[in-house]
Amino acid sequence: MTPTIFAANWKMHHGPRAARDFSDRFLDGYRPAADREVWFFPPAVSLEAVAARAGEHAGIRVGAQNVHWEPKGAFTGELSVAMAKEAGASAALVGHSERRHVFGERDEETGLKVRALLEGDLTPVLCVGEQLAEREADDTLEVVQRQLAVLEGLDGATLSRLVIAYEPVWAIGTGKNATPADAAAVHGAIRRWCGEHGAGAVSILYGGSVKPENAEELLAEEEIDGVLVGGASLDPETWQAICGAVLD
Ligand code: PEP
Repeated sequence: MTPTIFAANWKMHHGPRAARDFSDRFLDGYRPAADREVWFFPPAVSLEAVAARAGEHAGIRVGAQNVHWEPKGAFTGELSVAMAKEAGASAALVGHSERRHVFGERDEETGLKVRALLEGDLTPVLCVGEQLAEREADDTLEVVQRQLAVLEGLDGATLSRLVIAYEPVWAIGTGKNATPADAAAVHGAIRRWCGEHGAGAVSILYGGSVKPENAEELLAEEEIDGVLVGGASLDPETWQAICGAVLD
């Protein structure tokens, strides 16, 4: 059975001290369960703090929010895959909408990051999703397929090592979320794309204004294998409530 993944993207919140406090409060009520995994994506400076506390617990993984594809060099402000791994990461987000639309990350760079992560034995969590104008123009599937095309050339077994997160850009941090049925339809299209490219089971997460009130109905969709959560993952009790959705 593939566990449901609850992934917390802290974005630029929680430095090392706050990350330690969060971990202690979260772990207080944490009970591992075989059908669930909890993944944390703290800022790079807090990776070690979270890995040292939470990373030791069954069912918890820690990841970076972003990595560079080169192993080292003159890349001020960047983080290599090996550095993320040394700090305790076993996964990393790639192509998050804020990287794409705030920092101008291009598909080509996203593809290089996916390959560097696979080479370093970290799980890439590839984020895809359309902007509002693209949805209104009925271009959602075309946009998502273009973003997935960076994976062309990877064999099926390698593709199966990825996690994909469908995050409609208009739903991130806005309080608006896709209906479970709309999200499931896009997840189905992503799963078909992966199948056509030889992949076996790939976990596909939904992200975009997930909160305790809507997590359960989203996860009730068979196509939705987990959630990637920003704002509502910042408070340990709220995050506990989401991680308990459906499963407790
Ligand atoms: C995210 O940052 O990936 C995200 C989905 O944010 P939020 O839950 O705040 O919409």
